[in-house]
Amino acid sequence: MKVHFEVGKRVICIKDHSNLVVKKGQVFELLGIKKGCMHAPIIINIGIKGLGSSCYRCGFNGDNQLIYLNSTLFAPYDDSLSEVTAEELIETLETLLV
Ligand SMILES: [Zn+2]
Repeated sequence: MKVHFEVGKRVICIKDHSNLVVKKGQVFELLGIKKGCMHAPIIINIGIKGLGSSCYRCGFNGDNQLIYLNSTLFAPYDDSLSEVTAEELIETLETLLV
């Protein structure tokens, strides 16, 4: 499945962040998309405040001020799916993304 992210649309976290910056099931508005490094080819800004973003593996600096996270932690969140619980959605997405 090709995952399509669009600024201004919502995204849902499908995987806990290693430092629990975001947790599975949380929904955010997508504020920015950038090219990342080989470990996180697409990085996204979901409005989390912080001191910048760099890849802990290669040191790639994603941003000096904003927190950008690996897009693989997220999936686009469709309003038409609002009757589906986050858990169900995550299960569906995990199946599709395998
Ligand atoms: Zn990296």
